[in-house]
Amino acid sequence: MEIVHLGSGSRGNAAMVRTEETTILIDCGFSMRQIERRLAMVYAKPEDLDAILITHHHGDHGKSARAAAKKWDVEIHANFETCARLSLDPVNQCRVFESLERRDLGPDLSMLPIPIPHDDAENVAFVLNGPEGRAGFMTDLGEPTEELIKHMSGCQHISVEANYDVNRLFGNMKYPQSLKDRIHGRGGHLSNRQTAMMLDRLVHDNLDSIVLCHLSSENNAPHLAESEVLCQIDEDFKGEIQISKQDGPEFTHWLGQRAAEPLRWT
Ligand SMILES: [Zn+2]
Ligand SMILES: [Zn+2]
Repeated sequence: MEIVHLGSGSRGNAAMVRTEETTILIDCGFSMRQIERRLAMVYAKPEDLDAILITHHHGDHGKSARAAAKKWDVEIHANFETCARLSLDPVNQCRVFESLERRDLGPDLSMLPIPIPHDDAENVAFVLNGPEGRAGFMTDLGEPTEELIKHMSGCQHISVEANYDVNRLFGNMKYPQSLKDRIHGRGGHLSNRQTAMMLDRLVHDNLDSIVLCHLSSENNAPHLAESEVLCQIDEDFKGEIQISKQDGPEFTHWLGQRAAEPLRWT
């Protein structure tokens, strides 16, 4: 299983997962042109896509879902709330899933959606299951739930948001207190600290790779996120940490391999 983050942050999110027989996107939060361009950088085309999974309706995750369903004729998978909020036709344009409904996306890839708390959205995390094992993807959540930890346990790869540094967020003079409280609250985003604490519970001998994503450009920095996480898990974690930035893709992960492969133009 090949995992490529095409880009991640408040201005757009999409990740491609490709197995021998199946190619999917998780989220479709860039313009169609951007997604086409970024897919081409890893030798993929929209026509290759078997499915697009949408985590929730916010623009940075679902903005091009409707256009992709029409233009690329690809199956969109989302829960009912997300499907409705993105104005997708639940019969012709979207295959609606229920929380914790395991579903095959192709002959060698299946997914499990896990509900997570986030704002007014019915957000989900995904565990993808392929021939070499499992990979977990979770972004935009105010706090990890026990259910989420349970399903993410045992994954060989984890992509998780590390949205903000607590000191930077609360010291940010441009943000009103109400916005700071929303980001920090149960329906907001994970701080570097929360991400570190959660990863501490998910580290095991076969966790090969972690990608930190959705870093706030205002309230975080790659070195802050990475150091906070490493400080917490370093003793037990044998794999590698990478950071997915807004403008990608920069690297490819192969499930079962520790080191990410840098893409040639970076
Ligand atoms: Zn987001
Ligand atoms: Zn969101």
